[in-house]
Amino acid sequence: MFATTPKFIQALFPSLVWRKETLNKEIWLTFDDGPEPEVTPWILSVLKKENITATFFLVGEQIEEFPELVGAIIKEGHTIANHSYSHKNGWLCTKEKYIADIEKCQELMPNNKLYRPPYGKITKAQITLLKEKYKIILWDVLSWDFQQNTSPERVQGNILKNTKEGSIIVLHNNQKSHKNFFPILEDTIQKLKEKGFSFSATW
Ligand SMILES: [Zn+2]
Repeated sequence: MFATTPKFIQALFPSLVWRKETLNKEIWLTFDDGPEPEVTPWILSVLKKENITATFFLVGEQIEEFPELVGAIIKEGHTIANHSYSHKNGWLCTKEKYIADIEKCQELMPNNKLYRPPYGKITKAQITLLKEKYKIILWDVLSWDFQQNTSPERVQGNILKNTKEGSIIVLHNNQKSHKNFFPILEDTIQKLKEKGFSFSATW
């Protein structure tokens, strides 16, 4: 399994954003699937302590359930973005249903321009319909925090080994991933800073 997205896959989907062009040593830390009442406040406290900003790809159903958490994310200066309304797998639904689900989430964040497909699964037809309105953001560094037989050390290793300038790193704002990164998130951020990286939430 790949902790970085292979070049040949990136080349098949050139209209997707896998990694950012940057002349500086900037990186983009992203959290998928929130907001969530236990994990989101914890992530926010770590980011605040480290004085960095990140991007939260939020699920519409969760936004409706926990709107105050969205307010907290925005208030701390982070970026919020669209991760669909009900976390649909693009490979398993019609393009009409898929787009409608994204638009339903978008109504909750009308100024947003970013979309990340759940599971990274999206078809060429869906991309064609979305790419005028959204920047479709994937990642080049997958931490594998969602994998149940991984460990915090391996999650940290995946991030530290593979991050380079312009990298987009993905972690998950949910309970089952949290146990794999809560012991190492702060230390990982500090180690990335020691390597000279700075964190951006501007796209
Ligand atoms: Zn997701």
